[in-house]
Amino acid sequence: MHAPSDRRSFVKRLGQTAVAGGLAWRLLPSSDIQAATATPMQPGEGWIDAHVHVWTPDTKKYPLDKAFKLSDMQPPSFTPEELWAQCKPVGVDRIVLIQMSFYGLDHSYMWDAMSAHPGVFSAVALIDHQSDSVAKNAKELVNRGAKGFRIHSHGDAKDWPTSKTMQQLWKAAADEGFAVCPLINPQDIQFVDKLCEQFPKTRVVVDHFARIGVSGTVEQDRLDELCKLARHPNVHVKVSAYYALGKKQAPYHDLKPMIRQVLKAYGPQRLMWATDCPYQVQGDHTYKASLDLILSDTEILTASDKQWILRDTAKKVFFG
Ligand SMILES: [Zn+2]
Repeated sequence: MHAPSDRRSFVKRLGQTAVAGGLAWRLLPSSDIQAATATPMQPGEGWIDAHVHVWTPDTKKYPLDKAFKLSDMQPPSFTPEELWAQCKPVGVDRIVLIQMSFYGLDHSYMWDAMSAHPGVFSAVALIDHQSDSVAKNAKELVNRGAKGFRIHSHGDAKDWPTSKTMQQLWKAAADEGFAVCPLINPQDIQFVDKLCEQFPKTRVVVDHFARIGVSGTVEQDRLDELCKLARHPNVHVKVSAYYALGKKQAPYHDLKPMIRQVLKAYGPQRLMWATDCPYQVQGDHTYKASLDLILSDTEILTASDKQWILRDTAKKVFFG
């Protein structure tokens, strides 16, 4: 999700220095790792965070889109190095980057981050889904490294199922094997459902439980609707953004019934965990608290479920 205007500007900087060597998972107490897996992890086989945004205060080199101003950048900086300081100590060593809206359609910073840190990032790009050349533009971005495209409802989702250019994007996704990643509100699930009916082969990854619970309570009818979407076999759900859902308070256990229900509907092989950093590490929220809701669960998830949700589903969709 993106920063609401009232977001606290305070950010706990955990230092600019990356944890060296990509072997930070070794810093974990072995009991934490073994809670989820019977076999020791190999480097590069740590957990995958399926949704993170990075940006730099260097707006000379990477200018903001004209729709944004400097004060919109809260926190002012979240570079890969700041990310590593959060994620590597708890065993997360691959990340799906989601193009930050500050940069509009200029993906330079994301591509440069990927080039600077080979093998650890996948990418979801932004695209103008109303452009007549949307399919061609998507193919170019896929050739550059994008594995998916974020589509963001601004109240226009009702038009998506009949939009010629949106249909072109979904068809190209099915033909080319990339994912469509809707950032939608609960009332928009029905429109994604219609597109899934038209394009059953398109791989879909719904962000943040379709924002169910963002109002403060999990709406059961909307959750049922999200679970009904599971009848389309290529739909996945990001089990993510706990800081923004339900009580919005660690340890986030009020979200467990929602996780239980999506697990029952989708199975672990279509769910993926994500933090939505840097937003998960603002105020009292921590990176570890997000991971722990899944990793330390003893009520809902088996060790195998955890491996799928924390790594293998995202690996299949975004690192395949
Ligand atoms: Zn986000």
